Amino acid sequence: MTRLLAPAKLVIASHNAGKLREIRPLLEPYGMECVSAGDLGLPEPAETGTTFAENALIKAHAAAAASGIPAIADDSGLCVSALGGAPGIYTADWAEAASFEGGPGRDWYMAMGKVEGKLTQLGPDTPRDCWFTCVLALAWPDGTSAVYEGRAMGSLIWPPRGTLGFGYDPVFVPTGDTRTFAELDPAEKHRISHRADAFAKLVAGALTDNSHVNEQSGS
Ligand code: IMP
Repeated sequence: MTRLLAPAKLVIASHNAGKLREIRPLLEPYGMECVSAGDLGLPEPAETGTTFAENALIKAHAAAAASGIPAIADDSGLCVSALGGAPGIYTADWAEAASFEGGPGRDWYMAMGKVEGKLTQLGPDTPRDCWFTCVLALAWPDGTSAVYEGRAMGSLIWPPRGTLGFGYDPVFVPTGDTRTFAELDPAEKHRISHRADAFAKLVAGALTDNSHVNEQSGS
């Protein structure tokens, strides 16, 4: 049976302000008092894993061990079927530019163009299906952990459309829609996003008392 997270202090193991803004309101209704790894002055561990889950677990375990309280971390990215799942865990790295707006930075237009360039090289009939993944890892100071994976399926378009959202949103059209994530208002995106899917699984698995379900199923 999955261990439940008691309403108490929880570290959000991220130094990314955007992620903190998204994660905090999702957890506070469950009585969690969220503090960020940045607020606690915790170091950022190197993401040396080879999967989203490994990287999320590295961040969650490091924050739980250093703070002595449970921690949650996420790792996310874009996976393109025809590229064997790339850029995957390297999604943010594909945007790293030596020179962007006057210095080193992340150039998302360049990153989207890189994906498009690789698909174009493979030929006009190359399938354009892809998905965003979000893995949430929950870790306790005693070393136990749980992982929840969410996905949003879609396809890639070119040229990019829309000005909302971030990252690869302007080229991602979710399945069942004709608009890109960057053309959806944030509330609409958050209802169907990979992050929403992962959070729904975390809520069902770790924030809802489901012991009676396990007892009935005998698992
Ligand atoms: P990380 O999880 O901080 O390693 O970053 C993953 C990268 O995936 C982000 O920097 C974004 O570029 C991309 N990404 C993750 N979620 C989304 C999304 O909802 N829309 C667009 N891009 C995303």
